[in-house]
Amino acid sequence: MKKIQMVDLKSQYNKIQEEVDTAVLNVIKSTQYINGPEVKDFQKELEVYMGVKHVIPCANGTDALQISMMALDLKAGDEVITSDFTYVATAETIALLGLTPVLVDVYADTYDINIEDLERAITSKTKAIVPVHLFGQSANMEAIMGLAKKYNLYVIEDTAQAIGCDYFFKDGSKQKVGTIGAIGCTSFFPSKNLGCYGDGGAIFTNNDDLAVKLRQIANHGQSRQYIHDKIGVNSRLDSMQAAVLRIKLRHLDNYSAKRNNAADYYDQAFENHSKVKIPVRVSFSNHVFHQYTLQLIGVDRNKMREFLSERGVPAMIYYPIPLHLQEAYKDPRYLKGAFPVTEKLCDVVLSLPMQTELDNEQLNFITSTVIDFLKNN
Ligand SMILES: *Cc1c(COP(=O)(O)O)cnc(C)c1O
Repeated sequence: MKKIQMVDLKSQYNKIQEEVDTAVLNVIKSTQYINGPEVKDFQKELEVYMGVKHVIPCANGTDALQISMMALDLKAGDEVITSDFTYVATAETIALLGLTPVLVDVYADTYDINIEDLERAITSKTKAIVPVHLFGQSANMEAIMGLAKKYNLYVIEDTAQAIGCDYFFKDGSKQKVGTIGAIGCTSFFPSKNLGCYGDGGAIFTNNDDLAVKLRQIANHGQSRQYIHDKIGVNSRLDSMQAAVLRIKLRHLDNYSAKRNNAADYYDQAFENHSKVKIPVRVSFSNHVFHQYTLQLIGVDRNKMREFLSERGVPAMIYYPIPLHLQEAYKDPRYLKGAFPVTEKLCDVVLSLPMQTELDNEQLNFITSTVIDFLKNN
């Protein structure tokens, strides 16, 4: 059996090696390492794939979030609401810009931001909501967009874990997540669903004015060469990463299907088990399974991880500590107990290997090892 990994980038690369090697070599030979034609080509191809008017490539997903907030001209003290159960980058960029992160609890089933709590958190200072499509499934965008309209707020979607995911509207139409709010952000970190071979990110918008601003901010606030209208940052997707991404984008739907195959296999193995809860799938979106995350019921998680690890099955905890209990984000408004659902989730979640290269032999080994442990614990 192939060694089981959380993410198997090597096997994935082997299948596209010739194409990728040629593309990367061509960039090297062209010497157009920055803003070469691949970047524009990838931008255009991603615009078509996403069904969005503008893609602004940038250096990583964290930059994408920061540039988005800069483009909305938010002022120090403005409040931006996001989920307590997310990767730190979401709140980090808010805080870094001197804005006030306002945290909201999530639904235990889906890890989505709790809509009632979200509405309660809105004040006269609130300017934006940053929903996170955690683990590969969409937040309830119709409800969120409804609140944004009602209170006149911007929505910046954190799509770092859900590129390719479709949102199904009540009227029967569908749209890629990341293209529904004013702005969407994604990451091409190697282990993300569309990962490059280094760092990369992109911003999405259908708004022409915002697109101009976003592009300008990502490029030193420059409107024309050496003319700087606003303070910006230096955030570029380099040509080699774009060349890799152009190839991988063509495989993205197939990658999502492979992740779904693995998830279905896990679901079948665990769905009737009393000690684990399988991921709940919402009706308003499909799932692209960035992570396959179980919730353990009365199980010693550390002991289980150790048992799995000794047998060659890695498992990870996304995320072990809620944002409001992190040293950097400590806030007298949010003491222990402030977000009980997130606090509980952080204690019971366990993510199994989830990637495009898992075969049935590995899936069988993973599921039977998990069940073995649960039988005696
Ligand atoms: C990965 C990730 C980011 C940050 O992306 P980077 O490219 O690593 O900067 C932001 N938000 C979420 C939810 C992520 O998973």
